[in-house]
Amino acid sequence: MPEPLAITHATMLTGDRDGTVHADTTVLVEADGRIAAVGPTAEIAVPDGVRVIDASGRFLLPGLINAHAHLFSDGKPLPPILVNPRVEKLVAVFLHSPLARRWLESRTERAVRTQLNTGVTTIRSVGDPGYEVVRVARAIERGDRLGPRLIPSGPLLAVPGGHGAPQIALTGADVDTTRKNVRRNLSRGARAIKISATAGVTDATEIGYAGRPEMSEANMRVICEEAHATGVLVAAHAQSDEGIRAALRAGVDTIEHGAALSDDVIELFGHNPNSLRGFSALVPTLTAALPLVKLDRSVTGANPVARANAEMIFDGMLSAIRTAVEHEILIGMGTDSALTFVPHYNTWRELDALIRYGGLTPAHALHLATQANARILGIEAVTGAVEPGRAADLVLTDADPLVDIRTLAQPSTVVVRGQVIDAPAVERFPEIDALLDEF
Ligand SMILES: [Zn+2]
Repeated sequence: MPEPLAITHATMLTGDRDGTVHADTTVLVEADGRIAAVGPTAEIAVPDGVRVIDASGRFLLPGLINAHAHLFSDGKPLPPILVNPRVEKLVAVFLHSPLARRWLESRTERAVRTQLNTGVTTIRSVGDPGYEVVRVARAIERGDRLGPRLIPSGPLLAVPGGHGAPQIALTGADVDTTRKNVRRNLSRGARAIKISATAGVTDATEIGYAGRPEMSEANMRVICEEAHATGVLVAAHAQSDEGIRAALRAGVDTIEHGAALSDDVIELFGHNPNSLRGFSALVPTLTAALPLVKLDRSVTGANPVARANAEMIFDGMLSAIRTAVEHEILIGMGTDSALTFVPHYNTWRELDALIRYGGLTPAHALHLATQANARILGIEAVTGAVEPGRAADLVLTDADPLVDIRTLAQPSTVVVRGQVIDAPAVERFPEIDALLDEF
């Protein structure tokens, strides 16, 4: 349970785009887990009897928001047998069996705990084998266990044989089946909807085909209508200009990954009449593609086609980021965690990639993961900034993240909805980190 709390003498990063920092700040947290007051330590009276965390010499920032995560795996390379196309149907059968139910839940619990302990206090899942993230989200909301705020998608929606099918997707070719699938997810408790608008790196069989359009605009339109009617936002995996255009015209709210954008597509992001709120946002995921691009194929196991497609997709994402910055398209931050070489504790690496490859300032990268993501996911009244009335979702670090982003790999304290995690611990995979540290 949350307890009344005062965090005193912190150097506070607001998470705004300019990187505003307030020296010697105190934050008061109420018993309901919400922030009661924020201000200069000299001006904030700490009530008697509350727990005090002296954050002298430490840095305080809003809890991170991960807009693009999968939670069914830990980011270690999958055994080759599981990625063999001949057994993927068997894998899909297992994943959807009652036997897998509890197994997937415990993997999800471990994944979200790892993200939480590295400062991620809100996670949107975007493609789950079943409804295990829905169940874990409910357990956290009931207070049965400590965890981040979860926005679960359930299985993604794809065409037969499309990206993510059959393991983590419900498939439909026609409008009626598509409508049935989206309604199924919504009725089972999904609070986000994910579409495979185009193919992806892992399933492209020819160079240049990673962004091949898969779902028709008409089918995506039906999905957006159904989701928007219940206030749920729609995310689409889209890795080509053509695929992004169709998704945006259908009303998709967030474009995942991205590609080089043409002028009419840029316009659509800013003014998208079919989206829930009149605009759409871009959520690039650089750290999922980086290992495929940077590491030797003998390490990644990628075939030459996958390697070439990964390079194209990576360049496309960088181009999209540049265009988005130039045209003030809203950009969010997502890790694509659970994919190979993307462990749940490495959110800081996505920020690092946005800075080093995407050309963002550290302040801008941090802004994406906090205030911008809150706005993109429609939760800015709830979290994403250190302000009275919002949930006390907070991270304390020993170093200044604007100078050393890697300090986020090991926060000294994490607070979620006012509940304090002292000395958050994480199990890491040294062999993966050694590879990722190479670039
Ligand atoms: Zn993904």
